[in-house]
Amino acid sequence: MTRVEAEQEVWCDILSRLAASLEPPGGVRGPGVVTADVVRAGATCRDMCRASRTALAGLAAAVPVRPRAPPLTAGMSASDSCPSRAPRVDAPSGVAAGAEAAPSDGVDWQRWEGLLCRPQERKVEELRGALKQLGLPSSGSKAEMALRLLGHFGLSAKCALPPRLWVALMQEREGQAEPFSARLASALRELQEAGHPAALAANREPSLAGARRVLAAAFGNSAGLMAARVAAMPGLMELRAAREGRRRREAEEERAERDRRWAQEQQRWTVKCMEQQRSVARALEERAAAVHGEIASRRALIERGGPVFCPCGNCAAPGCSLLICGSCCRQHRTGACARHSK
Ligand SMILES: [Zn+2]
Ligand SMILES: [Zn+2]
Repeated sequence: MTRVEAEQEVWCDILSRLAASLEPPGGVRGPGVVTADVVRAGATCRDMCRASRTALAGLAAAVPVRPRAPPLTAGMSASDSCPSRAPRVDAPSGVAAGAEAAPSDGVDWQRWEGLLCRPQERKVEELRGALKQLGLPSSGSKAEMALRLLGHFGLSAKCALPPRLWVALMQEREGQAEPFSARLASALRELQEAGHPAALAANREPSLAGARRVLAAAFGNSAGLMAARVAAMPGLMELRAAREGRRRREAEEERAERDRRWAQEQQRWTVKCMEQQRSVARALEERAAAVHGEIASRRALIERGGPVFCPCGNCAAPGCSLLICGSCCRQHRTGACARHSK
């Protein structure tokens, strides 16, 4: 092995390790993040560029793809017996094994590589067949057909990445990929609650790919995010306790205000009742005074020896202590006098 070959092998190893940092679906390091890292590393020199192509081929074999989700359709698969979802990538170790790890999604990726990466080399019939399979119009010149086919996959020129990887990136961008795992999503919510800027920024990203980009830049990977959650926990607890205290204080203030208003209402009623009682008492006193006055004036009349009349117009009966006639006295509502009650 020459020195150049040995060096190339080292680059290949390094970039394959980078490609192997792909996490299972639901993690932070998804296809977009890992592809960007490998491509960026490949841009540094020619040897790295060559190594990055090997790494990307390995990555393409490992990324999750949903054969029945856009831009793929069931028609793109060789048979209908293929699973509707990509097999889960449980351990990224498969990536290092490289392109030999054949994707088991039932899609003839070699054929699509020819169609999307080198469309000018394909025959007209092949392009037409592919367009029909995807349910696209198959008219026009060869160049028009090639552009239509590329456009379906969001490409304006031939594909520079392995088509399987490209499709995985598109699905991740367009909401077809598996979202964050429940564990990661809950950690993310807690970081947002604690006001972590990266978690808040990730939440504002419209696509899963964008959110992953932000999170990978801030935390590296899922383990980094979980560690950040653990670190943020004490602050979050304090925040929650403060929020709870504030809530309880507000509830107490509200209760005190309610009690105060109730007491005010009670007092208003008490005052009103007392006023009513006083006015009734006043009326009774006035009435009693009037009755006493009446009796006194009759007595005075008797003392002066004048005739005394009952309110009915008859003469008052002599000896009636109520100073009225016998028949009125017997019907009096408070009872007859001693003489008339016999
Ligand atoms: Zn009488
Ligand atoms: Zn009378």
